[in-house]
Amino acid sequence: MFNLINSKQKLPSLRKDSLHWKSPYAQKLNNSILDFVGNTPLIKLNKIPKDHGLSCEIYAKCEYMNPGGSSKDRIALAMARDAESGKYIHEDTQFVEPTSGNTGIGVAFNAALLDKKSFIVTGEKNSSEKVNTMQILGAEVIVTRKSSTEIARQIKDANPDKVVMLDQFENNINPKIHYDTTGVEILEALGKVDMFVCGAGSGGTVSGAGHRIKEKCPKCTIIVAEPEGSTMFNVNGRKHPFLVEGIGGSTVPIVLDKSVVDDFEVITDEESFLMAREVIKKEGLLCGGSSGTAMAAAIKAARKYNLGPGHRIVVVLPDGIRNYMTKFVTNQWMEAHLFMDPPEHSMRWWKHP
Ligand code: PMP
Repeated sequence: MFNLINSKQKLPSLRKDSLHWKSPYAQKLNNSILDFVGNTPLIKLNKIPKDHGLSCEIYAKCEYMNPGGSSKDRIALAMARDAESGKYIHEDTQFVEPTSGNTGIGVAFNAALLDKKSFIVTGEKNSSEKVNTMQILGAEVIVTRKSSTEIARQIKDANPDKVVMLDQFENNINPKIHYDTTGVEILEALGKVDMFVCGAGSGGTVSGAGHRIKEKCPKCTIIVAEPEGSTMFNVNGRKHPFLVEGIGGSTVPIVLDKSVVDDFEVITDEESFLMAREVIKKEGLLCGGSSGTAMAAAIKAARKYNLGPGHRIVVVLPDGIRNYMTKFVTNQWMEAHLFMDPPEHSMRWWKHP
């Protein structure tokens, strides 16, 4: 069989220093996939800053490389361990969680490993890819047009002794794990950070990692990427539905600490999805839609704050392409939503100014 490690075959198109012939995992046996939550790669962007006329450095924190596919693996594991150590988890415990999908995947993941049942409540706009992933992990998924949190509470209140709601929107473990891990990993890799950019759904990432980075780098500017239509930060903006998943909203979650945020950038769905596709195509980082929102916000903020050579921006890529294989990843979906013209010689959409 073709063996990469022993092969004498030359691969002229790949740079030698970017090849890791020896797997970092080969040295030790791993007992659980949960050992691979966190410690995600921080990767320098090689083309996008230049292509957008920027001379600063942009680094992507690739949270989609977590085993369940998103940054939410960190909080689901931390909240489950906290509940376990607080003796809230018994033999017949069931979990319930309101989520845009990724925390649901994380909770279902942990529930599956603990042989527990999980109920995941999510809004109808969230992708069927996320729903399918939760279902194969054994979760019962409840899709609603109403508040997922309210429905999840009803499920918990109907059986309070049995059902545990880890509750990402109110559980302080959410920002704490980003303070203890995500923020630390970024600082250990870079030392100095001039700008930190991410979206806010529960607000756990920006509150936790943002605080940790600000403690070490007080001059670092913390930027939230706000989808157009969301009024979480853009309080005077017009509230309307938007397609990007996992971020934004009209209420401020309890775990979101707005005091750490210096500024926000409003990004349209079109900008988000086109940028996610650009990050995938130019940098090979197979990210999701809200990663595009964050990257577009970073580019705007870099200009606004005049970041130049030697300045370092960290952008969080919270989840990956897998969650959107039937959505922005396809040309047809982009065309149907008027984000891209159909191929030449067929037809094109008239875009009203
Ligand atoms: N992007 C995606 C795709 C998400 O699922 C989430 C979490 N809902 C976020 C960004 C925002 O992360 P946080 O909840 O930590 O604010």
